Amino acid sequence: MAFDFIQSALMQRKQEGLYRQTKISENAQGRYIQIAGQRYLNFSSNDYLGLAGDPLLIKAWQKGAQLFGVGSGGSYLVTGYQQAHADLCAQLKDWLGVPAVALFNSGYSANQAIIKLLLSKNALLVQDKLNHASLMEAGMLSDCKMLRFKHNDMGHLSQILQKNVNKDTLLISEGVFSMDGDRAPISDLYQQAKRRNAWLMIDDAHGLGVLGSQGKGSVVEAGLSNDMPQIYMATFGKALGVGGAFVAGSQELIDYITNFSKPYIYTTGLPPAMAYAVMCAADMVSKDNWRRDKLLHLIETFKRSASLNGIRLAPSSTAIQPLIIGSADKAIRIATQLKQLGFWVTAIRPPTVPMGQSRLRITLTTSHEVKDIQALMQSLSLVLHDNK
Ligand SMILES: *Cc1c(COP(=O)(O)O)cnc(C)c1O
Repeated sequence: MAFDFIQSALMQRKQEGLYRQTKISENAQGRYIQIAGQRYLNFSSNDYLGLAGDPLLIKAWQKGAQLFGVGSGGSYLVTGYQQAHADLCAQLKDWLGVPAVALFNSGYSANQAIIKLLLSKNALLVQDKLNHASLMEAGMLSDCKMLRFKHNDMGHLSQILQKNVNKDTLLISEGVFSMDGDRAPISDLYQQAKRRNAWLMIDDAHGLGVLGSQGKGSVVEAGLSNDMPQIYMATFGKALGVGGAFVAGSQELIDYITNFSKPYIYTTGLPPAMAYAVMCAADMVSKDNWRRDKLLHLIETFKRSASLNGIRLAPSSTAIQPLIIGSADKAIRIATQLKQLGFWVTAIRPPTVPMGQSRLRITLTTSHEVKDIQALMQSLSLVLHDNK
C-alpha cells in the first residue's frame, strides 16, 4: 500500500511510549497553565521574561493592527514590507549593534534559509552535535558536506577544522542550548572560526533578551559584540514573547538574502501588527532590567534549593534547568506525578534528546515567584524519592 509507513511509524512510536500529541492550553502563557480544566504552575514555557501575556504587549498588538492592519497582504518584495517591518529592523540594529537585519516568519525558516542559501555542494558546514533540529535538518537537506563536533568540545572542533579545509566554511552553534541550558564558548568559537577563515553563526533563540547587558544576548554576554559573528539569528517567540525571527549580518549578506533566499522571498511577510508588538517587546526587554534580575534570582534559588535537596541538575546557569532522568518511561512517570501535584513540567524524550537521556526540561520565567520554586522542589523531592 502507498505510504503505509505512516501507520507503522505511528504504531512503533506508541509501542515505544514515545507517541506525541498536542494539548490545548486554555489560558494565556504565564505563571499558570490551564489544561483540560486543571490549573498547574507552568514550568515548561520559553516565555522566559513573562511577556507573552503582558497587557502592554496585547495593547501594542491591538494598536499595530489599527495602524497597519492585521495581515501584510504580500511577500516582502511585493507589497508586504510595511513601515512596522522597517521600524522593527531599525530598532533591532540599534539595540543589538548589528549592521543589517532580515525578518523571517519563524526561526525554523530562518535557519533553513541561511543554510540553503550559503552552503552549496562544495561548502562545509560544521555544527555542534546538540544544535537545534531546524539547523540539523537543513544541513542534511543541503548538498554541502556537514560535520558535527562533540557538544561544546573545542578540541574536537579544532581537529575537524584542521582536517577539513574549505574555502566556504560555516560554523554554527547555539548561544544557549535549548535542551541542556548550557552556554556555548562563544569567544573560543569566534577565535577558531577566525583562525580558519570560516564564518561563524550563532543561533541565540534562548539567549536573546535573557543574557547580556540590555538583553543583547549570548554574544554580548561572552564579551564580544553581535556584529563579530558573521551571522547572528534569534527568534521573537521566546524571551520576547511574540513570534517570528530575524537574521542579522552585513548589509551585503542581507542584500543577498533579499535577492536570493526563497524562504525570504516567497512567503507572506510577518503580520505588521505582530511586527509592531515585537517592537514593543524589544523595547521592554532592552529597558526592563528587573525582569532579568528577577529571573536570575529565581534561577539561583532553584539551584540552591536543588542542591539542598540532593537533586543533581545538569550544569546550567540559565532559565533552562534540565533534570536528566534516563529512560523515557520513567521521565513520563515523574512528569505525570508532578502534574497530579499541580506542576506542569514537560518530559523531553527521544528523538528530541538522545536515548537514555530523557529529562524533565524545567524552565523558569520571570512570572514565577520564589514560593513556586520552593513548592516545585518539595514535590520534586518526593516524586524522585518514590521513583528511586
Ligand atoms: C525555537 C528554536 C528555533 C526555532 O524558532 P521558531 O521561531 O520557534 O521557529 C531555532 N533555533 C533554536 C535553538 C530554537 O530553540
